[in-house]
Amino acid sequence: MPIVEWAHMKAQEVQALAAENTVVILPVASIEQHGPHLPVMTDTRLGHEVAIRAANKAWSQRKTLVAPVIWSGLSEHHMAYGGTLTISHATFRALLTDLIQAITRHGFRDILISNSHGGNDIALKSLLDELAPTLDATLVATTYVMEAGDRYHGIMEDQKSIMHAGEGETSMMMVCEPGLVDTSDLAALNVPSTGGPAFLGAGRASYRWRPLPHVTPNGVIGAPEKANVEKGEKLLDIGAQSLAELIIDPATWAAPQDLRNPQNNEDAT
Ligand SMILES: [Zn+2]
Repeated sequence: MPIVEWAHMKAQEVQALAAENTVVILPVASIEQHGPHLPVMTDTRLGHEVAIRAANKAWSQRKTLVAPVIWSGLSEHHMAYGGTLTISHATFRALLTDLIQAITRHGFRDILISNSHGGNDIALKSLLDELAPTLDATLVATTYVMEAGDRYHGIMEDQKSIMHAGEGETSMMMVCEPGLVDTSDLAALNVPSTGGPAFLGAGRASYRWRPLPHVTPNGVIGAPEKANVEKGEKLLDIGAQSLAELIIDPATWAAPQDLRNPQNNEDAT
């Protein structure tokens, strides 16, 4: 296995990879409550695991380096349960901007911001809209759960996709940190994941911010009782495979077309 972690390498080794047009994954996560049974590092741990696995899968076709996980994310909606460390949009934007600029100053040109916490999603898109046009680099932001999408179907019994502290995340944490998952009474933690009031919605297609206690008494959405190691291994592999395919696909990083003048695109080929 190649060394794929930025933090494990010597400076000159990182620079050699920059010269080879290596992709950099910058994982972005959170420290936030994940029910009574999972540690608050769940999104940080899973985001790291999926990124490392994805870099290893992609490596033979496209070298990929994983930067340290940014654990500080936007988790205001979890604060009521305790254990949660949230930062402001302004801090999040400033931190990511500085780190992305540091990465590009070393010569890296293709950067995948790999998010593992839903609360960061809107802020990442907003950041890219502003930052991408200013950089001589390509920024792509993904949330691995969304990128994997319907590939998760059929693996979980209680839910189609990964939901907060439910069957999916509990299964993956059973693989990654078995000693930190409290399995003593998972059945008592189940919270129905359908039929409740919309969390972040209003009307037919409108947005409304709400705190998470609006939809769950214990910080769980779904049925941790259904979790097991076999499901966790499959879910981790699907998430990593989806990121690896995104990384390997040349279209992910291709320069935008410019249709104003056909000559422009002929020049670019
Ligand atoms: Zn989570």
